[in-house]
Amino acid sequence: MAIATINPATGETVRTFDELGEAELQEKIALAHERWRTYRTTGFQERAAYMHAAADLFEKEADVVARLMTTEMGKTLAAARNEALKCAHGMRYYAEHAAEFLADEPLADPSQVGAERALGRYQPLGPVLAVMPWNFPMWQVMRFAAPALMAGNVGLLKHASNVPQCALYLEDVFRRAGFPEGCFQTLLISSKRVESILRDPRVVAATLTGSEPAGRSVAAICGDEVKHTVLELGGSDPFIVMPSADLDHAAATAVDARVQNNGQSCIAAKRFIVHTGIFDAFTEKFVARMRELKVGDPFEPSTDVGPVATEQGRADIEELVDDAVSAGATVLCGGQRPDGPGWFYPPTVITGITRDMRIYLEEVFGPVASLYRAADIDEALEIANATSFGLGSNAWTNDEAEQERFVTDLEAGQVFINGKTVSYPELPFGGTKRSGYGRELAAHGIREFCNLKTIWIGSGAASS
Ligand code: NAP
Repeated sequence: MAIATINPATGETVRTFDELGEAELQEKIALAHERWRTYRTTGFQERAAYMHAAADLFEKEADVVARLMTTEMGKTLAAARNEALKCAHGMRYYAEHAAEFLADEPLADPSQVGAERALGRYQPLGPVLAVMPWNFPMWQVMRFAAPALMAGNVGLLKHASNVPQCALYLEDVFRRAGFPEGCFQTLLISSKRVESILRDPRVVAATLTGSEPAGRSVAAICGDEVKHTVLELGGSDPFIVMPSADLDHAAATAVDARVQNNGQSCIAAKRFIVHTGIFDAFTEKFVARMRELKVGDPFEPSTDVGPVATEQGRADIEELVDDAVSAGATVLCGGQRPDGPGWFYPPTVITGITRDMRIYLEEVFGPVASLYRAADIDEALEIANATSFGLGSNAWTNDEAEQERFVTDLEAGQVFINGKTVSYPELPFGGTKRSGYGRELAAHGIREFCNLKTIWIGSGAASS
């Protein structure tokens, strides 16, 4: 895949970039390794000062950052601006909490283990490679960079090939914020060159957010090298609606949960599973709202849904929809690409889906909702869990027993009751099953790239 900015709203190539040469790549890895030796000794206060300065820049430049994102991957300008501000919030969160999250953990009674002092201490690992996707081109990176840098690691970023300007902005913003040269570097390289970096002994760990095949490849190489990995992969999140739910609120949130980020979010609700008693009423409200959405230029303030980020991405969506329709599924709205330039695809609702259709099992990365009817809570859970993914999940019910059942039985990294799945710096984020492993955000996210060192200190005197 060429490294280029291609505007998905027009299909026009705005700018192309040369890949890093091998010598330049080696220089960058060497710099990361060298920088880490000194950066690891800096204190939380110094790191926090840099991080707050980077957050200030993100806030000040939110409009510029937003335009970059919208140009490169087509999210609406309003969504892009929110993403820039969310990055600043996440950076400040780790600037303020890193010292607390990584504080020593002393054993209250060290004599239990025959020591004078015994404790756990979190120490940084070294240069970490982050392989990142284009869908939240700033926020996905920040979820790694803010905690990793606050912990005393240094970062190397291999960003998706269609967001090079976002990738370069990120390197630039950390440099301008005062982080020493080499703390955070962008590598403009193709995915083929990831393996050599993972096998380089100077790079000690990796995190990947993206598709299952990419995650499998990185994990296999890191397994071979015995290097720690965090994987944030795909999702096909269920959104279950039960009779006690507020249907208007559920339908409005369902639309937002499906079409956010032009339908290209790992935690977008993708499968809507509705109790038979309210199926018709919910469907009417949901489909009406999906039809009302305005699809168009993501720079236009009235636009709800912009284009799909890549031509291939739209072709993948069409393939899944066409496969379902040819096997007998019913399209309630959308389902046909519009004429004209750009990679637009309309908000679409499909029902009558059976287990033999690809859409039953595969993730649709675009504004397409699959609608299922469930006879009762058991069937709703069965459909919800009939996927290899386990990222987010949503259930709408005001019945406390049902809420508890969903919390316990949904196979997912996150359960949101009467709401849509959202990532917050304050809450751990991650998946189960084939959605990946490890956790980002909250205290867990910063500890992923630390060595928890056990320290045992005796008195030095011979025991009598
Ligand atoms: P992708 O094709 O896997 O790309 C993600 C990143 O991996 C890009 O930087 C890509 O580089 C690189 N890559 C691709 N194949 C690779 C390989 N074999 N070895 C090493 N690196 C490789 O995914 P995408 O289409 O951009 O993103 C969509 C997917 O990401 C969806 O499945 C979505 O659900 C998932 N996602 C998950 C989360 C989460 O937090 N769980 C968040 C966002 C997205 P190139 O661009 O150069 O190919």
